[in-house]
Amino acid sequence: DIPVIAIDGPSASGKGTVAQRVAAKLGFHYLDSGALYRLAALAAMRSGIELKDEHALSEVAAHLNVVFADAEIRLDNENVTDVIRSEECGNAASRVAAYPLVRAALLERQRAFCQIPGLVADGRDMGSVVFPAAILKVFLTATAETRAQRRYKQLMEKGMDANIATLLQDIRERDARDSNRSIAPLQLGAGTHLLDTTSLDINQAVDRVLCLYAE
Ligand code: C5P
Repeated sequence: DIPVIAIDGPSASGKGTVAQRVAAKLGFHYLDSGALYRLAALAAMRSGIELKDEHALSEVAAHLNVVFADAEIRLDNENVTDVIRSEECGNAASRVAAYPLVRAALLERQRAFCQIPGLVADGRDMGSVVFPAAILKVFLTATAETRAQRRYKQLMEKGMDANIATLLQDIRERDARDSNRSIAPLQLGAGTHLLDTTSLDINQAVDRVLCLYAE
């Protein structure tokens, strides 16, 4: 069996960075499942599809023309790596992600990332739905305030405009939406290790995951 490490957690918890570094250390593939929901939302907005039209959204999700090439994400041959990181895209992603048809449309695409020698998958339902047989399941989180600060730093580094209070409010709203939805709600599942990174830096968080994997 191909080993999968599932790293789930709320928005801006740092799981993307941690998951990528763990993947690099182990020589595993990396799946950024949130990017797929962001891409589906972006593609829908660009085609003028309403974010409440579940059927049309699922069609868009099923036919996404996406390429993950190294650090670059391309949609319809356009580099959208930074575009999909905007708060607008994140919020839209969390809306479209609440639809069962959209999630179903993206399921096999996510599972296709599971290839030799292994995969680190980052998202909300990696351990619960997409890779239930994952050899290691981690729920990576931090306080909402810490996450707002991390997101703020990230956006500043990309030269994007941001405001901490707004980010904190967005994070709280997104947490509520992702946790309260009826399908694939964000929650700490059975057999999942809780990793609170509020007082950890990235290297420490990466080491914790690698230690858990080595156990
Ligand atoms: O992780 P990221 O912030 O990029 O995810 C954007 C949104 O996509 C999340 O707020 C969540 O609603 C949705 N998502 C999801 N399931 C995943 C990954 C992301 O529902 N596995």
